[in-house]
Order: sequence, then structure tokens, then C-alpha cells
Amino acid sequence: MNSVGRPPELDSHGKVVQKSLVNVTIPTKLANFLKEKGINRSQLFTSVVKRMYRDEICRFCYGSNIEESRIGKYCTDCELARPTENPYTVYNNCKNCGNKYQPPYTFFRQSKKIDSGCDDCVPKEERL
Ligand SMILES: [Zn+2]
Ligand SMILES: [Zn+2]
Repeated sequence: MNSVGRPPELDSHGKVVQKSLVNVTIPTKLANFLKEKGINRSQLFTSVVKRMYRDEICRFCYGSNIEESRIGKYCTDCELARPTENPYTVYNNCKNCGNKYQPPYTFFRQSKKIDSGCDDCVPKEERL
């Protein structure tokens, strides 16, 4: 079911994301709060589920083919469908310095001294 006037959401393969109607029962005060704030419950619910389960569900295609690398967790379907874009849903911390990998720094870095670092802890001139 498409919302009026809104283009349909597409997944990374360019297919329309199929949607389902779900009913949820929540405290009336919470329902009133959402109504007063004009919060779109479908968007809110989708966003909350995506955030809570971001290490299990892809934020782009809602698929569950998630794998882990040194950098973090990523969707293998989206990696194939959009090879030039960042497929990560969760970022790990660098094993060397503890800083979080995050866009645009989504590659691990190596030097002669550091086996698995990041842009922060492996200076450009020492990178292998
Ligand atoms: Zn995906
Ligand atoms: Zn680092």
C-alpha cells in the first residue's frame, strides 16, 4: 500500500519495498503524545526496529544476509547490488586504537608496526 503523494521506497536492487499493515497496542498516553507531536507511527516503528536490530537487519533492503568484517557488519546483498556504496549497518571499534570506524573511514589500515588499524592510528605515510 503506497502513501498518497509519496514515492515508493526502493531497495538496493531498485525493487519497491513491500509493506504490511501491523497493529500495535500501546499506552493511550503514548498514543496521544505521538498524535500531538504529529509523529508518523509507521516511520517511527520502522526506524526503531531498524536501530534495535541493526546487527541483524539491513538498513537499506531489510534483508538479513548480514556478515561481519573487521570494520563492522554489512549486508552481502547490498554490497553486491551497490558496489560503490557503503553497505555497513554497524561499525566496530578499531582493534588498535579503539576509535570507531565510520564513514568516510570504512577501511582498516596496516603499517609495518600495526596489523589492523584505522585512519586515526596509522599515519598516511606509514600505510602499506
Ligand atoms: Zn541490504
Ligand atoms: Zn585505529
